Amino acid sequence: MARIGFIGLGNMGGGMAANLAKAGHTVRAFDLAEAALARAEAAGCTRAASAADAATDADFVVTMLPAGRHVLSVYQDQVFAAVPPSALLLDCSTIDVASARAVSAAAAERGLAMVDAPVSGGIAAANSGTLTFMVGGTDDAFAKGEPILAAMGKAVIHAGAAGAGQAAKICNNIILGATMVATCEGFALAQKLGLDPQTFYDIASKATSQSWSITSYCPLPGVGPTSPADNGYQGGFAAALMLKDLKLAVEAAGAAGASVPMGAAAGALYQAFVNGDDQGLDFSAIIKLLDGTQHK
Ligand code: NAD
Repeated sequence: MARIGFIGLGNMGGGMAANLAKAGHTVRAFDLAEAALARAEAAGCTRAASAADAATDADFVVTMLPAGRHVLSVYQDQVFAAVPPSALLLDCSTIDVASARAVSAAAAERGLAMVDAPVSGGIAAANSGTLTFMVGGTDDAFAKGEPILAAMGKAVIHAGAAGAGQAAKICNNIILGATMVATCEGFALAQKLGLDPQTFYDIASKATSQSWSITSYCPLPGVGPTSPADNGYQGGFAAALMLKDLKLAVEAAGAAGASVPMGAAAGALYQAFVNGDDQGLDFSAIIKLLDGTQHK
């Protein structure tokens, strides 16, 4: 069993660290928030005093932080100096491709192996250990990190070299964001045209519009499998995080010279939604913007 330093114990990291402890690893956990630390301790992790303390003597360091600037500062200011040279660094946060490549290059300059390993699947998947990991890094680093990631997920896929995991993640989420907006438009229009939501669900889930947004995460309450819509759009994947990912995708597209008009349009709609009072809600709540029920 491995010694793992885990940094960032929020909505996602809390469940992920708990699953590593449950698998029998020794997890030294750190977060800036006391409540997150207490939850990790209750789940079988040991409390570390700082990010550097969590990394000391670790075989693996896993980070699950909000954005690129947090990842850069945690590694550059704390982890790099504390971690043993043999350790593998795994950043599971969703961050911009440029920061992912920069932090990986900085690690390589110090002789440290690092992978970017962002996840698909929300808080429920983090808690149940059924995340999908898309991994960027060398073959050796991937092979070493795979069993650790597998303890937190149902699929671990090598996407390519450093930064490829983040590239795959934003490409996935540009499709997801645009598909969710289109799903919400279709269901809102169906209601305005007098169709029964369940009847339209039965049709759309078997017709050519079928997608994950419809059959696994239907944005209407009482229709399809249980989803955040059935819980007042609480929990799940916050609209503000979808906006963050769409911004990262549009930014990356600009740098790569790619055309992403649907992603940009979805991003503008999520920006309008997040500007209202419902910004903490799940991203499927964008249906409120489209059917006119959003709080102003
Ligand atoms: P979160 O805000 O709940 O958790 C982030 C945690 O990092 C917080 O507990 C915060 O205190 C901690 N933190 C911030 N700076 C720190 C530092 N310097 N040292 C130690 N701890 C620090 O966010 P989350 O929902 O857990 O998301 C984490 C990452 O996962 C993000 O990049 C997000 O885009 C990505 N993600 C989230 C979801 C989701 O459904 N929530 C799904 C897929 C990917």
